[in-house]
Amino acid sequence: MRVSVLGATGSIGVSTLDILSNQSPGGPRFQTVALTAHSRVDELARAALASRAEFAAIADPTRYQELKSALAGSDVEVGAGAGAVVEAASREADCVVAAIVGIAGLPSTLEAVRQGARVALANKESLVCAGDLLKREARTSGAKLLPVDSEHNAIFQVLDRPDRVEKLILTASGGPFRDWSLEQMSRASPEEARKHPNWLMGAKISVDCATMMNKGLELIEAVQLFDVPEDRIDILIHPQSIIHSLVAYDDGSVLAQLGMPDMRTPISFALSWPDRMPVPGLERLDLAKIGRLDFHAPDPARFPALSFARAAAAAGGGACVALNGANEAAVEAFLNGRTDFLSISRTAGDMLEETIREGRHASPGSFEEIYDLDRQVRARCCERFGLSS
Ligand code: NDP
Ligand code: MG
Repeated sequence: MRVSVLGATGSIGVSTLDILSNQSPGGPRFQTVALTAHSRVDELARAALASRAEFAAIADPTRYQELKSALAGSDVEVGAGAGAVVEAASREADCVVAAIVGIAGLPSTLEAVRQGARVALANKESLVCAGDLLKREARTSGAKLLPVDSEHNAIFQVLDRPDRVEKLILTASGGPFRDWSLEQMSRASPEEARKHPNWLMGAKISVDCATMMNKGLELIEAVQLFDVPEDRIDILIHPQSIIHSLVAYDDGSVLAQLGMPDMRTPISFALSWPDRMPVPGLERLDLAKIGRLDFHAPDPARFPALSFARAAAAAGGGACVALNGANEAAVEAFLNGRTDFLSISRTAGDMLEETIREGRHASPGSFEEIYDLDRQVRARCCERFGLSS
């Protein structure tokens, strides 16, 4: 099976490469096609050599020479710039793992969809911003979008009768500030926001978990993937992150997928579907050791991002682009010390409201419209944070 990994140096990328390196008996044989990164040349070069990739692309064009030198004497072809990342996605593959963070991943995710490959999708922001258009492209090319996000992967695993679904239930750990007061949250530092209790992830998604915007984006992702309206998707706080999500059917049955919080399980499922493959080396679930599983409803006052995401999902694709763009800009400003934690969700909510007030909330008709709206929303956010866009 020929596999490319976009965002190979990130948290999902590294877990994916770990699975690809494990050619266990009874599992599929993998061949690495293309790997990409943004600026971490050394990590990319090391991964390309270790996985014997055919092509390595670095998004930052100023890093071309560095990558070329790091891979000199090897058979790995080298590319740099945003175009090279898209080229990596276009190289013939059976599966492309889309694991770039943010809307920056949309052009390459789209290219992977256009080549008709199986797309193991971690880059949820692509689907949030362009779900309708990506699905249309997938229908044309025959590409299959398989969710890597653990909640959606869980639902996909137990969704045997989509026509009988009453509700989808997305579980959420509640993040590092689950039990913090608003007053404590107003003083939260980037380091505190990045410390997720159960998962080890990239900086942006970790902050998204702290605001619970991650669950908001996942709500929109679920609407897109499973064609279920937002008012039939519940969010349930489950601090242990053992039940990865549930599907409630109209006969009263509720099916769930359980496992230890380790992304190698959903990644391997997306790679091996419709089969499964052995994943050695990850801790097995021992419910007796865990002892108890807790659940409660989320607090909308401390986590307003959840209602903003519901409002965006109900309003349309443009609203989702605005919510996502504002969130990306605000998270970056927060991580760089330019704004406080609570302003992340406030900014996203304000930009959403403006977009709806200006009548730009409907689904954009083209990818260009999506990029334009995203750029405009980010420019407004930069102005708000006193940054140049
Ligand atoms: P990381 O920040 O760890 O990794 C991001 C990857 O994307 C890196 O390879 C990075 O390269 C690359 N990248 C960043 N910006 C750009 C850009 N502008 N152009 C091209 N490449 C870029 O993120 P995660 O692995 O945590 O997350 C990736 C995606 O998966 C996100 O959409 C996230 O929401 C989703 N996801 C992640 C989960 C997790 O457990 N981590 C769980 C579920 C979903 P470099 O290293 O050079 O900066
Ligand atoms: Mg998730």
